[in-house]
Amino acid sequence: MFRIGYGNDIHRLEAGRPLILGGVEIESDLGAVGHSDADALTHAITDAILGALALGDIGSHFPNTDERWANAESFVFLRFAVGLMKQHGYSIANVDSTIELEQPKLRSYIEEIRSGLEKVLEADAAMISVKAKTGEGVDAVGVRQAVRATAVVLIQKDK
Ligand code: MG
Repeated sequence: MFRIGYGNDIHRLEAGRPLILGGVEIESDLGAVGHSDADALTHAITDAILGALALGDIGSHFPNTDERWANAESFVFLRFAVGLMKQHGYSIANVDSTIELEQPKLRSYIEEIRSGLEKVLEADAAMISVKAKTGEGVDAVGVRQAVRATAVVLIQKDK
């Protein structure tokens, strides 16, 4: 049996904050603002896994009013979702995701992001797609006010 999940996330960009995407720090003059480390890609994938399981969303498990998650490394959330998935007898079939960021270009970071996700998701990097695009100068992404990520995750019931 297969189940599919979808996640998306957006974080505001501001000077003086780190920019973390998929667990990798990106060299950038602007960073992402959030309660945790504001890793939009990791949040989108976490939500997609929770969505596939119909087990709520990242905010219901990790409220941003809870000081425990202040500046938390977002892989903590992702590991939690993967743990839930395994408890329910599923594993990752494949992941497809897109990061929308105007600057810098993310191409040189994609392989490092995929290999980090491979470990946390316990899935071969060949099954993990991370794409990147700009906002073409329009919308919140295009004017460098925000970074956005979307993810679709397919999970399969293990025998
Ligand atoms: Mg988020």
